[in-house]
Amino acid sequence: MMNTVRCGCKVISVSNQKGGVGKTVTCVNLGIGLAREGKKVLMIDADPQGSLSISLGVQEPDKLSYSLATVMLNIINDEAFDVRKGIVQHEEGVDLLPGNIELSGLEISLIGVISRETILREYIEQVREFYDYIIIDCMPSLGMLTINALACADSVLIPVQAAYLPVKGLQQLIKTIGRVKRQLNPKLSFEGILLTMVDNRTNYAKDIAALVYGAYSTSINVFDVEIPMSVRAAEISAEGSSIYVYDPKGKAACAYSALIKEVMNNG
Ligand code: ADP
Ligand code: MG
Repeated sequence: MMNTVRCGCKVISVSNQKGGVGKTVTCVNLGIGLAREGKKVLMIDADPQGSLSISLGVQEPDKLSYSLATVMLNIINDEAFDVRKGIVQHEEGVDLLPGNIELSGLEISLIGVISRETILREYIEQVREFYDYIIIDCMPSLGMLTINALACADSVLIPVQAAYLPVKGLQQLIKTIGRVKRQLNPKLSFEGILLTMVDNRTNYAKDIAALVYGAYSTSINVFDVEIPMSVRAAEISAEGSSIYVYDPKGKAACAYSALIKEVMNNG
């Protein structure tokens, strides 16, 4: 499914309320892969666990005095702030706004806030002029932070682990995306469903792929490429680098490169 023509920046939310499906690893390799194609990329860590921040070399995100939570608090409190503050540069050419444990406190305090679903959007609208892509790594829930990420996105990329029956969780996610689209963000589209951790030696993985394709491909783009199960891909978080540097000739690097092509073709 092609997206509408777009000028300037595209904001992609990487979301699935299930943990451990490859959201963070996909964000790292998607963001850095786009940067390697010459795109200006901002990555935003919207998970209180700070996994994206750690994966991009921020050793102890919880010790940061300024992060995504600070940015969102500034907006909630109507305080003027420098939108570039808190952004760190990764040596592979992407910018990162780190996230940390303060996001869980923030998520709770959002409950009483006016326009609580669109706080992040206010930030995105101010930084998007500086970037070609903004990639948001979501937390494993459909709570207020994820709603904020969906409410400010142009598209949502859904990693699905090909190792269990994902259909039920996917339906819930797709329903939430539909609700956000109707009520908060009419321009939101599906970037695509990405099968991750695919072990092609098993028939089970093939069954799941066929199931996802059969159930969704008429209404939602399912990426042609599948991300293979790869120990090297699992190791990148500890390395602080992308798969393109850590294991450039491996099958995961090849798959993520193919994903970049598909995403750039989506427009
Ligand atoms: P999420 O962000 O959805 O919780 P992660 O990206 O953190 O998922 O991945 C979950 C776990 O699986 C991590 O330990 C990660 O290193 C590992 N992993 C991610 N992608 C792959 C892959 N292609 N093959 C094998 N392990 C992977
Ligand atoms: Mg994660």
